Amino acid sequence: MIPCDTILSIGTTHSVRPDRQPPGTGGNDISLRDSVEKALAAFLAKEPLYRWVNFDLPYAKSKLRVRVVLIHCDECNTERPFRDTAPAEEPWHGPIDRQPEPPRLSDGVYPLRFRCTGCEKSEALYWVSVDTAHGRIRKVGQDPPWSVAVPKAIVEALGEDLDLYQKAKMSLSQSYGIGACAYLRRILENQVNTILDLLYESKRASGASENELLEIQTIRSSRVSAEKTAVAYKFAPASLVIEGNNPLKFIHDFMSEAIHELSEDECTGRARQVTAALEYVVRELRHEQELRKDFLESIRSLDKTSRSGA
Ligand SMILES: [Zn+2]
Repeated sequence: MIPCDTILSIGTTHSVRPDRQPPGTGGNDISLRDSVEKALAAFLAKEPLYRWVNFDLPYAKSKLRVRVVLIHCDECNTERPFRDTAPAEEPWHGPIDRQPEPPRLSDGVYPLRFRCTGCEKSEALYWVSVDTAHGRIRKVGQDPPWSVAVPKAIVEALGEDLDLYQKAKMSLSQSYGIGACAYLRRILENQVNTILDLLYESKRASGASENELLEIQTIRSSRVSAEKTAVAYKFAPASLVIEGNNPLKFIHDFMSEAIHELSEDECTGRARQVTAALEYVVRELRHEQELRKDFLESIRSLDKTSRSGA
């Protein structure tokens, strides 16, 4: 399958809602806390700002917390566990029937602060907005900011499209999904030219006629159209096609449909889903270009050798 980010389906397995959850610290409460913690940790590490996410909110305010989140530490220059810096909850030592009801989680913005367990220096701070009526949360701030860094391997493969990709990631970090989808689709359309270049080189090396080469050049220099993408999809390198699926067509259709028909929020989800697949396409095409270049150079040098020997 095409490598692909999964959409977080936070809280979908738990039906406990704040208005139904009884107060107390019974046996179920521990598993609830673990479930909330796990979902909240994933939410903090992966979600961009301002995107509402359905969440099975805990009844008590004190339960909206995570003991540890796994995030990148700039100081340690690697991913590290960051520990919650809030003081531990005081256990109740009085009679169980006199235990006071914990303060209920209400609408508002809650700060969550963490410190790196490796260097004990780096801190991470998140502000989480809670909407109890709709059972959802969203990040309204974070420090350090959501990373828009592009991995080194992709930087090289993207070449001139790096700027577009950074804009796609910045749009995604603010949940501007429609913008992110448009940037990602443009990158994909630019990759069409790379495929046509590969096709041209391959045809030329195999002694294709001038007319055939001119035809490819004409398509290459034309604006992006259904015909142009159809040719590129047809001649996409075999290494790109996985189990009969051409990821170029899949991503292009997926993005086009999102831009024309889906909401900003749904587009954000789609752009996140497709990012890894697009990175795969860009990397594979660059790899294919390098292989083809090496191959053609070795053929040319063999040709020269045989001519000089003759
Ligand atoms: Zn650290």
